[in-house]
Amino acid sequence: MSVVSVKPKTSSKKEIKEEVIYDAIIIGGGPAGLTAGIYLSRARMDTLLIEKALPGGQAILTEIIENYPGFSHGITGPELMQKMEEQAVRFGLKIEYGEVVEIKTKEDKVKIVKINNQEYRTLTIILASGAEASKLDIPGEEEFRGKGVSYCGTCDAPFFKDQKIVVVGGGDTAIEEALYLSKFAREITVIHRRDRLRATKILQERIFLNKKINFSWSSIPLKILGKYKVEGILIKDLITSEEKEIPCQGVFIFVGNLPNTKFLKDVIKLDDRGYVITDDNMMTSQEGIYACGDVRKKILRQVVTACGEGATAAFAAQKYIEEIKGVSYR
Ligand code: NAP
Repeated sequence: MSVVSVKPKTSSKKEIKEEVIYDAIIIGGGPAGLTAGIYLSRARMDTLLIEKALPGGQAILTEIIENYPGFSHGITGPELMQKMEEQAVRFGLKIEYGEVVEIKTKEDKVKIVKINNQEYRTLTIILASGAEASKLDIPGEEEFRGKGVSYCGTCDAPFFKDQKIVVVGGGDTAIEEALYLSKFAREITVIHRRDRLRATKILQERIFLNKKINFSWSSIPLKILGKYKVEGILIKDLITSEEKEIPCQGVFIFVGNLPNTKFLKDVIKLDDRGYVITDDNMMTSQEGIYACGDVRKKILRQVVTACGEGATAAFAAQKYIEEIKGVSYR
């Protein structure tokens, strides 16, 4: 099939950019999406990246990234992501802003990506839409969001200078963020549902040395308390069943992530938690649609794995595009 043979259609209602059929549309501008953008642009594939907010993904909210190779003393999340974006744009990646609400596949191998009232056509899609913070779903969480409840220490820490904070969770994010918050807060209590942390050992070593941080082990939050803003949290000890209130001005919640895959329902095979299932070459259940980064079902969610998967997805997509176009592949 030749790409140029696909005829444009018209629609009275929607602005359909059908005169352009991209080689690839990347959904999401975190490390996975930007890396895919670098590889596809260098391969001279006509590529558009669509980003909902700011490029950078969750990594941009990270104070310091210490485990991305090449930066012996670490690099800030915003700096690393800005460099990735600049690198991709330098090779010709186009970036547009908007939230993808639907993707559709067609018989002629062309795929449609819908954003609000616009539709884009493409031969391949790379899903790099990432994940967002899970909620606790307890009383007070929604009510006090932005009034003491936060999911981003790097964003909100300065508002809690010299205050008492509770951090919920025991993974890498919770521990990294608690360490960052301790530069501002007077005292921090980490509430964790087990008696040991999930976080990487080096982070554990640091948090156990931090004099401002204490722990409520084997405990879960039941309710966030307050009148107009957060004034405390009610927690339950899972061993003794005892309930107690901890007075605090901030509750920071880091209990994992959920994938941004609502717009993929019924199109792509997802696991029971909504993560995209791929093969080793990042191909999803739909031919010509690939997934990489935190949106993908996998065991390790890091910037470095996101980048590797972005490169693999881009390479697989390039191979597919060249096959469709009848270009001989080396
Ligand atoms: P995570 O590893 O899934 O940890 C979530 C934490 O929240 C766990 O400690 C979990 O407890 C707890 N939790 C989950 N649901 C809960 C609930 N309903 N109530 C109370 N506690 C609950 O999530 P994450 O820390 O956001 O990390 C996500 C991924 O990003 C991981 O792969 C992580 O390694 C990676 N990451 C890496 C870095 C880094 O390398 N620097 C930084 C940040 C994140 P249990 O331990 O009992 O399950």
